[in-house]
Amino acid sequence: MNKGIGIAGIAGRMGRLLAEEVPAAGAALAGGVDRPGLAVEGARMFPDITALAAGADVVLDFSHASTAVAHANALAAAGTAWVLGTTGIDAAGEAAVRAAAARIPVVWAPNFSAGVTLMLALAERMAAALPAAQYDAEIVEMHHRQKVDAPSGTAIGLGQAVAKGRGVDLAQVKQSGRDGHTGPRPQGAIGFAALRGGQVVGEHTLLFASDTEHIALTHRAFDRRTFATGAVRAALWVQGRPAGLYSMHDVLGLA
Ligand code: NAD
Repeated sequence: MNKGIGIAGIAGRMGRLLAEEVPAAGAALAGGVDRPGLAVEGARMFPDITALAAGADVVLDFSHASTAVAHANALAAAGTAWVLGTTGIDAAGEAAVRAAAARIPVVWAPNFSAGVTLMLALAERMAAALPAAQYDAEIVEMHHRQKVDAPSGTAIGLGQAVAKGRGVDLAQVKQSGRDGHTGPRPQGAIGFAALRGGQVVGEHTLLFASDTEHIALTHRAFDRRTFATGAVRAALWVQGRPAGLYSMHDVLGLA
C-alpha cells in the first residue's frame, strides 16, 4: 500500500494529466510505461507493464486497446489493482479483463467523469420507463479529430445502459453509422451517430423520441481533466478492495 500509483500510457494526453492529478490528490506517483522512447519529465519510466505492475499498488491504464490482454495478464499475475479507461477493447480483450477481475480488483469505465456516470444511471432508468414500442433511443456523440474508435466507449456505455433498462442485448438492437438505403428504423433499435472534428473533448446526447414528445440528456466535457480526477478518485477507492469488476457507479456509491 505504499508503492504508489502507476500509469500505463503516461506520455499520452490522459497519461500526462494523470501524472499531475495523482500528486494533486496527495498520492505518490510510482511512475509509468509508454511506447519505447517516450518519457514524461519528473516521472520514473518502467521498462514494461510487468515491471510497473510489480512497482505499483494500482495502475491507471489509459493506453491502447491492443494492450488489454497483456496488461490484464501482467496485473493479475502481480496482484496489482487496475483502473482501466482504455476504450475500443475487443472481445478477446474484454474476456481477459473479466478473467483478471477474478484475481484483482478492477475499476473499468468507459468514462470516469462524475457527470457521465450519473447520465448512465439515468439512461437506464429512463429506458425502463419509456417503452421501446413508443420511444426511439438515439445516441449522438462528438469527439476531437484524433479519436480512433467510433462510436465512443461512452456512447456504447449509454447504449448498454438503455439496453439494460429495456432488458435486451445491445448487440441485437444496435444500429450504427447509417448510410445509403437503410430502410425504415426497426422498432426497438438503439441508434448511434458519431461526429468527429476539431478538439471536442467529448459530447454525448441520449435522445428518446416518440410521436408526441422528445426528451434528451446531454453531457459536455470541456476539459479531459474531468476524466483524470475521476480516475484518480477510482484509484484511491479501489486499493484494498476484494477482487472483482467494479464501475464508476461503485466508486460514486450509486451501485
Ligand atoms: P493518446 O494516444 O494521447 O495516449 C495513449 C498513450 O498510450 C500514448 O502515449 C501511447 O504511446 C501509449 N501506448 C500505446 N500503445 C502502448 C503500449 N503498447 N504500451 C504502453 N503505452 C502505449 O490517447 P488518450 O487521449 O490519452 O486516450 C488513451 C485511451 O484512453 C483511449 O483509448 C481513449 O479512448 C481512452 N480515454 C478514456 C477516458 C475515460 O474516461 N474512460 C477518457 C479519455 C480517454
